[in-house]
Amino acid sequence: MSLNHIRPWKNIYRRTSRQIMVGNVPVGGDAPIAVQTMTNTDTSDVAATVAQVQAAAEAGADIVRVSTPDESSTKALRDIVRESSVPIVADIHFHYKRAIEAAEAGAACLRINPGNIGDERRVREVIAAAKDHGCSIRIGVNAGSLEKHLLEKYGEPCPDAMVESGLEHIRILQDNDFHEFKISCKASDVFMSAAAYQKLAEATDAPIHLGITEAGGLVSGTIKSAIGLGNLLWMGIGDTIRVSLSADPVEEVKVGFEILKSLGLRHRGVNIISCPSCARQGFDVIKTVETLEKRLEHIKTPMSLSIIGCVVNGPGEALMTDVGFTGGGAGSGMVYLAGKQSHKLSNEQMVEHIVEQVEKRAAVIDAEMAAEAETEAAAAE
Ligand code: SF4
Repeated sequence: MSLNHIRPWKNIYRRTSRQIMVGNVPVGGDAPIAVQTMTNTDTSDVAATVAQVQAAAEAGADIVRVSTPDESSTKALRDIVRESSVPIVADIHFHYKRAIEAAEAGAACLRINPGNIGDERRVREVIAAAKDHGCSIRIGVNAGSLEKHLLEKYGEPCPDAMVESGLEHIRILQDNDFHEFKISCKASDVFMSAAAYQKLAEATDAPIHLGITEAGGLVSGTIKSAIGLGNLLWMGIGDTIRVSLSADPVEEVKVGFEILKSLGLRHRGVNIISCPSCARQGFDVIKTVETLEKRLEHIKTPMSLSIIGCVVNGPGEALMTDVGFTGGGAGSGMVYLAGKQSHKLSNEQMVEHIVEQVEKRAAVIDAEMAAEAETEAAAAE
């Protein structure tokens, strides 16, 4: 929930969903919206896959999905699960037996695609394995692989066909007394995805995994995902998200977080507010921001930094950020700390000094959050 009593126009009322566990990560209910990505290594290459999982986790991924197309992948999964710091979801297509092997290997969740997992008997076997090994399940409906009978009924992939596919599989899971599931309804078309997700959100209280599938490359896929996922999240729909990009999984995680940060739904790391720059700039804004983005990647504390080229907007933005720098004249600018004007600084010293100030401020915020958590824990006792 993102509620702001001072600025009610920023409020987002999240749809009420059931909460399930994906390993040790809660999904749904009042849990933070979880960010996921997927590896693109050969899963049987344990070292490469674990390295990619860890890089994604370091970038903030809460859950990572791994494709398990064959037996050598499900064999490798045991070691991958053991060495990963985040829960692993096994991605299953076509061979229900891979789902059973993945459950035995310690997957936290099994993603099954109703369109290609096979008949109800096979799904029941997967459910039994999930129950035996404490896995959750994601029903992953995809517009590109709907069941034949639904394509015949609707003539082409459409939101109604996608939702019907999802609900048929929810029924199978519930008939088998299995309730630890979430569901996705992905399409590469933003309109189709958005319509399907809205219908789904009304038809079930299961946690919803959001995604625009095959969204494209880094720039086009980011925009498509921001529009599709952003609108749904703004409506309060979505308990976990994956941004699908033809790019490094770390980029998917970064984009996922940026979408959530833009909507005030989750905060992580430094949110840099910077101007596009123009002839008025007192220093090279673009180069400075590029450098600071890299230098501040290690900061996980949610905080804000404004880097503004001149006094047109600089002082105003700095009032609302933890650390700020506004360009001035004669090769120097003004530093703002916790929204207050603090001291003058030369442009040459700026990057080092800002990094130092951000680190100091992050330590203060961390200490405040720790004290708050301690007070809350004491009150709960
Ligand atoms: S804040 Fe100043 S430098 Fe930046 S774009 Fe606006 S006018 Fe130009």
